[in-house]
Amino acid sequence: MANQRITGFQANRGCPFRCTYCAERCITGIINRNNPIRSRNLPDLLNEIEFVENKYNLDYFKFVDATFDVSSKYVTDFCKEKIKRDLTIEWECMIHASIAKEEMFPWLKKANCNQINVGCESGSPKILKEIRKGVSVDKIIKVFDWGKKYGIKRRAFFLIGTPSETLEDIKLTEKLIERIDPDFLGVTILCPYPGSDYYNHEKMKDIDWSFTDEYSNDFWHTEYFSNQDLKNIQKELTDKFKERLVWHQTKILGNE
Ligand code: SF4
Repeated sequence: MANQRITGFQANRGCPFRCTYCAERCITGIINRNNPIRSRNLPDLLNEIEFVENKYNLDYFKFVDATFDVSSKYVTDFCKEKIKRDLTIEWECMIHASIAKEEMFPWLKKANCNQINVGCESGSPKILKEIRKGVSVDKIIKVFDWGKKYGIKRRAFFLIGTPSETLEDIKLTEKLIERIDPDFLGVTILCPYPGSDYYNHEKMKDIDWSFTDEYSNDFWHTEYFSNQDLKNIQKELTDKFKERLVWHQTKILGNE
């Protein structure tokens, strides 16, 4: 992606999930009857993409939505309209594996979707349940297989350091990474952002959040792992799959 002209667009605001480690609800609110998902009108969204592409000579765009596929129909309608307008620019988006349907994938491919980004987080059903991810290991596998089948690159995010995670759970995560064979991979350590279930104001009020994130933090630990243990596990996993690491993790952790 070096030397490319890239920008982001937003199609939906809000996420219907409430993962324990995520602070999205602080930004777009908890989804309920009074605060529904706000999806942009498709012709308006496509007009904007078309305008920006022409004016700024774009090479690529990303949807910055927390979950682009809040409705699989919205996704296929977007793809159909993009194709109809002959907008050939490549793009990528965040997909929630539980919502994704196979019939979305041929349309994504035809609409030049280059990559889907999927928060898998863990290969352990116990951990997926604990973090309220709302998806099963089997469905994650299906989505990665569909991506491969239809020729769309697949980026996977995994998270270590949830409170009840043990070495056995980490092994399941490692096994899932091997099974789904992602094109790009990020492995992060839980970061208790304000707004997530793990934030404790009393203990964490002095943390400088401008220097703390999920790629690297010096304090998070669990009953089973010290902060250094988590860093070691992250290093082992990122070393093992280093040829697939997302570029910024390669830079941050020095897995070159
Ligand atoms: S992690 Fe993703 S799916 Fe979960 S609440 Fe946050 S934005 Fe939604």
